[in-house]
Amino acid sequence: FFIVLEGIDGVGKTTQARILAQKLREQGREVVEVREPGGTRLGEAIRELLQKEELAPWAEACLFLASRAQLVEEVIKPALAKGKVVVGDRFSLSTLAYQGALGLEPDKLAQLNSWVTGGLEPDLTLVIDLKAEEALARGKGDLREEIRQKLEIVRERYLNLAKERAAKVLVVDGQGSVEEVSRRIWALVEEALAR
Ligand code: C5P
Ligand code: MG
Repeated sequence: FFIVLEGIDGVGKTTQARILAQKLREQGREVVEVREPGGTRLGEAIRELLQKEELAPWAEACLFLASRAQLVEEVIKPALAKGKVVVGDRFSLSTLAYQGALGLEPDKLAQLNSWVTGGLEPDLTLVIDLKAEEALARGKGDLREEIRQKLEIVRERYLNLAKERAAKVLVVDGQGSVEEVSRRIWALVEEALAR
C-alpha cells in the first residue's frame, strides 16, 4: 500500500508523514518512509542541486522526475513487492501542482511523469490543505506577498487536481494542532486500508 502526503510548503507534510508511519508501525505493519526530492543517493544530490541553482522550468521539472524515477526503482517498487507500506512526503502531484504553476503544460507533465514512474500511482494521496498565508506563518517560509501569491496558486492547483482525481486523492483540512490533523489523516488511512 502506497500513501502520499501532499500540499504546499509549510502545511506539515513531513511531521504528519512521521506520525503516520509511527501509527502504522504500531499496527504491526512494515513501513518505508520516502521523501521527494531525495530518498536515494541520486535524489539527495538532486535535492542539493535544486536548492543551489536557478533552473529553467523544464530543467527543474526533469530533475524532479529523475529523482522520482530513481526512487520508484530503487525503493518504492521493491518495498511494495515485499508487502510493506510506503509513506511518501510528496510524489507526482507535487510536479503537477508546482511545475504546472510555472506554466508548463499539464498534459506533458502528466505524460512524462507516467513514463518515469512506469505508471505507478499511490493508492491514496492526501492533500493537506491550508491557505498560503497560514502555511507561511507556520514555518521557515518567506513572508513576502509575492511568495504568498505564488503559493496560493499552487494550492489552487492541488485542490483542482484532487477534484479531478476524487477516487484516490483526498483533501485534509490542515488547520488546528498537529494532533488534530493527524487524527483526520489516520481516519482516512484506516478507511482506505480496510477497503
Ligand atoms: O518542503 P520540502 O522539503 O518538500 O521542499 C521541497 C521544495 O521543492 C519546496 O520548497 C517546494 O516548493 C519545491 N518543489 C517544487 N516542485 C516539486 C516538488 C517540490 O518546486 N515537484
Ligand atoms: Mg517538509
